[in-house]
Amino acid sequence: MAEPISRSRDLDKLLLRPGHLVLIGFDFVKLRDDLQEYVRILVVGAGGLGCELLKDLALSGFRNLEVIDMDRIEVSNLNRQFLFRLEDVGKPKAEVAAKRVMERVSGVNIVPHFCRIEEKELEFYSEFSIIVLGLDSIEARSYINAVACGFLAEYDSNDQPLEETVKPMIDGGTEGFKGHARVILPGMTPCFECTIWLFPPQVKFPLCTLAETPRTAAHCIEYAHLIKWDEVHSGKSFDPDNPEHMQWVYLEAAKRAQLFGIPGVTYSLTQGVVKNIIPAIASTNAIISAACALETLKIVSGCSKTLSNYLTYNGVEGLHTKVTEFVKDKDCLVCGPGILIELETSVTLKMFIDQLEDHPKLLISGASVTVRGKNLYMAAPPLLEEMTRSNLGLPLFELMDKSRTGIVHVSGTAGKGDKRQSCLRKLRVASRLSMESQIPTWLVEHKFKNPWIR
Ligand SMILES: [Zn+2]
Repeated sequence: MAEPISRSRDLDKLLLRPGHLVLIGFDFVKLRDDLQEYVRILVVGAGGLGCELLKDLALSGFRNLEVIDMDRIEVSNLNRQFLFRLEDVGKPKAEVAAKRVMERVSGVNIVPHFCRIEEKELEFYSEFSIIVLGLDSIEARSYINAVACGFLAEYDSNDQPLEETVKPMIDGGTEGFKGHARVILPGMTPCFECTIWLFPPQVKFPLCTLAETPRTAAHCIEYAHLIKWDEVHSGKSFDPDNPEHMQWVYLEAAKRAQLFGIPGVTYSLTQGVVKNIIPAIASTNAIISAACALETLKIVSGCSKTLSNYLTYNGVEGLHTKVTEFVKDKDCLVCGPGILIELETSVTLKMFIDQLEDHPKLLISGASVTVRGKNLYMAAPPLLEEMTRSNLGLPLFELMDKSRTGIVHVSGTAGKGDKRQSCLRKLRVASRLSMESQIPTWLVEHKFKNPWIR
């Protein structure tokens, strides 16, 4: 059945005619059909931004979408995550979002994945033309960024990777009335890790301010939450999901605010401060998602130059938006050529894994090791651990089919204390012969005969 003409009218204006901004190789005759046929897009996250992204991408003519999200729908999502209804509460977000968009947009196929992003093999991610991120966590972004950067291969003498190995990412993010959309071409433009400083550390108030000189409603709330609670409830820990606990903190904060003449303490602000909730605004999600969907279309079609490379949107007072061109960190551990680790050919996989824990730039514990998609050792789950355990005693050199240099992917937990997070690193392993076999045979023989040579 022929599609109604109106469905792709706007898309055709972009894709079915040439223009001054189109990139080399732009073939406007076949393009629209190719987009629908061959391009596969992964949307990471099916929350506020993810719902918008799936809808926008489906309406932009993409037909092969997949979405991954580990969360289930909660009542508090319904005000902005517009694909969900009251009867969906408790169901996986990815599944419901995929179903709803397929019901409304004919011809699109969306495959949902209800799981953690770390549960998927690297190969899963390699199959997509482009990865679009609608996440709210820095850790999850870091992880996907490392996965995409891990596909980079064969750097030339200028440390530029092979273009075919570049897996583009579009990252969207919103926080209240503010948001960003950025284009990441790993190895070519700054990756997420190159500009990690863009995410400031969470605001923590000094305890002395809370205890002695509160100036804002948030100070009063944190006083009740962090100081007063422990004084009164010795030993009983505060549970942010217990409404009675929250109510107690709210009343204490209100008392303190009155004492210091500070206005503004409410129950919902108490929840916001204690749980560190940043309100999500549907319009911000819609605007950022539209920017991300457009960049996706531009990258895969070449119908226009892409954003270079970071757009910020601020709707707090009036509207302010601008684009900044950030630069790549040439020493980036994630999108650069990778840390070089030199090993002797006799070093076993176990010894290699132990070294990762002490390496000052890595500090990875509980590492799993993969070479060219082959799992050499998996620290978890137990079944895979058992299957790969026998490799631990074998030399890494042999496990890498005796190639002198190679890329090794390592995943595990990095950092110390409560800063620990799952991470994925790409390493360049270069093997050299063991010291012993580098010594010329005549010397070895000589050594045994002549006690003066050590
Ligand atoms: Zn980087």
